[in-house]
Amino acid sequence: MSDEIPDFARGALRLVTRRRVLALGGGLVAGMLFQAPLAWAARRPKPGHKPKPPRLLMIDPGHGGRDPGAVGVKKGTLEKDVTLDITARLAAALEKKAGVVTRRTRETDEFLPLADRVAIAREARADLFVSIHADSAPTRSARGLSAYSLSAKGTDDFARELARRENSVDEVGGVDLKNTEPDVAKILMDLTARHTRNAALKAKRAIVRGVSRKWRLLENPMRAANFAVLRAPDVPSLLIETGFLSNPSDEALLSNPAQRRRIALLLARELDHLLSNPPFA
Ligand SMILES: [Zn+2]
Repeated sequence: MSDEIPDFARGALRLVTRRRVLALGGGLVAGMLFQAPLAWAARRPKPGHKPKPPRLLMIDPGHGGRDPGAVGVKKGTLEKDVTLDITARLAAALEKKAGVVTRRTRETDEFLPLADRVAIAREARADLFVSIHADSAPTRSARGLSAYSLSAKGTDDFARELARRENSVDEVGGVDLKNTEPDVAKILMDLTARHTRNAALKAKRAIVRGVSRKWRLLENPMRAANFAVLRAPDVPSLLIETGFLSNPSDEALLSNPAQRRRIALLLARELDHLLSNPPFA
């Protein structure tokens, strides 16, 4: 049961981040350690109980408003328009699936800071966060889809940073947690971050492999980077570059509504399948 420890960590992390720890009597470590498994147990479906609620997919259209993103090499296609259209189609396609509900970080042409996108996904307790983009490269010949998950270094850095920030918030909140909480919080944060990262890696592989039969891929399509938008420690996050606006053929594809519909449907099919199976379901 390799999923048990990450689930435990996730449950405990929610206690820490949502400061329910206050209700446990001054944030005692012992309280956390007893309460976290209870929270975890409560999340498990009982035999004969109603089926699991649908998974929540947070779809993030890259760029927007005063940030146009990449600009098409031939026709001046704007990345922010491509991403908004593909994500609208993706959400519409997934609306028909019983196991998934979707939300979008933006539904109009508006500017949204990267940190806000992560915060929206965390606040909603999304099961998966997918940011949609259309890349640009110095070499015109680069083309095809690629997918990014957070690099290992990015995972460690952010888990540490968040642990520090959450703890200081609790101190400001008037409860002295500094003699008891930080070490436990840090361990749980690290465990959760690792679980999140593994789920994101699985998602990245599944989606890239799934669309590869019908959509052109970049030469090395499975990538990792320390992108700010991928840094939620408790929401598995992916960034999908659907193609390169710096490549004339890819720009022709991505500026064509029928092709945008095609990639949206391919992604919808893979995401539906992904979220219906472990580690997501
Ligand atoms: Zn982009």
